[in-house]
Amino acid sequence: MTNFPDSFLSLLMAAPATLSATVIWAFIGLFIGSLLNVVIHRLPLMMQRESDNYIAQASNAPPPHTSRYNLFVPRSACPHCGHTLSAMENIPLVSFLWLRGRCRHCKTPISARYPLVELFTAACTALVVWQLGSEITGIAALLMVWMLIAMSGIDINTQTLPDDLTLPLVWLGLLVNLYGLFVPLSDAVIGAAAGYLLLWSVYWGFLLATGKEGIGYGDFKLLAALGAWLGWMMLPLIILLASAIGAITGLALIFWRGHQRDHPIPFGPFLALAGLVALLAGKSILQLYMGAAV
Ligand SMILES: [Zn+2]
Repeated sequence: MTNFPDSFLSLLMAAPATLSATVIWAFIGLFIGSLLNVVIHRLPLMMQRESDNYIAQASNAPPPHTSRYNLFVPRSACPHCGHTLSAMENIPLVSFLWLRGRCRHCKTPISARYPLVELFTAACTALVVWQLGSEITGIAALLMVWMLIAMSGIDINTQTLPDDLTLPLVWLGLLVNLYGLFVPLSDAVIGAAAGYLLLWSVYWGFLLATGKEGIGYGDFKLLAALGAWLGWMMLPLIILLASAIGAITGLALIFWRGHQRDHPIPFGPFLALAGLVALLAGKSILQLYMGAAV
């Protein structure tokens, strides 16, 4: 008879995943989503502080930020009244429901973004484990998906895809395919280069044609990362899906909320979503298309 930790681990690290393993991973996903909320909120601020201090240092001025600020320090607090959250107020999803979406201290509504990111992360985590199992391939895919969620959140908030996330995702994609985890290494290398060049050309074409910047440099790096993880064959599908989802969302926003046409909508989340679809269903979609073409 196996003891508890062994059997628990073997349940979590199974391929194909069982239903109970998938449910446990969904719970783990809730907590990861809670961590991603912190990354989405704090990483841009951390980068801003670092850059402010660097600029001050270059002109021999005292650094404007001296207090410690990272993903763990200081502890989470209400942005309105500064009330530090206790452990009970920090449980993913449960705390939001228990507090009825309001700060316990000042009763200011808490943004629905927090539980939404947690739920979305849990759903994606369960879906990835269900499809790919929870051995090395599934775990690697989870890492990719969690990073994509963090990047999308930051892009929606700040219209920037930070290099601190996009570049590691490129290297990780190449590394996991060193032994062909998702695609052969050659497909991954070509995917990374082609992904970058493809959007780089679109950027310059758009700029020359309209005098406006349609997409940002972060988008090139994100598509390079998706090419590194999923191979160059997935790039057309990813671009097509991202553009389609982006166009529909853009139209819906203009229609429902009177979104300003000139106000840019970040493209990163659509690329990320298309990357997720390509990860989970890309091969079937391509086979279907190839089958129809023959
Ligand atoms: Zn408060």
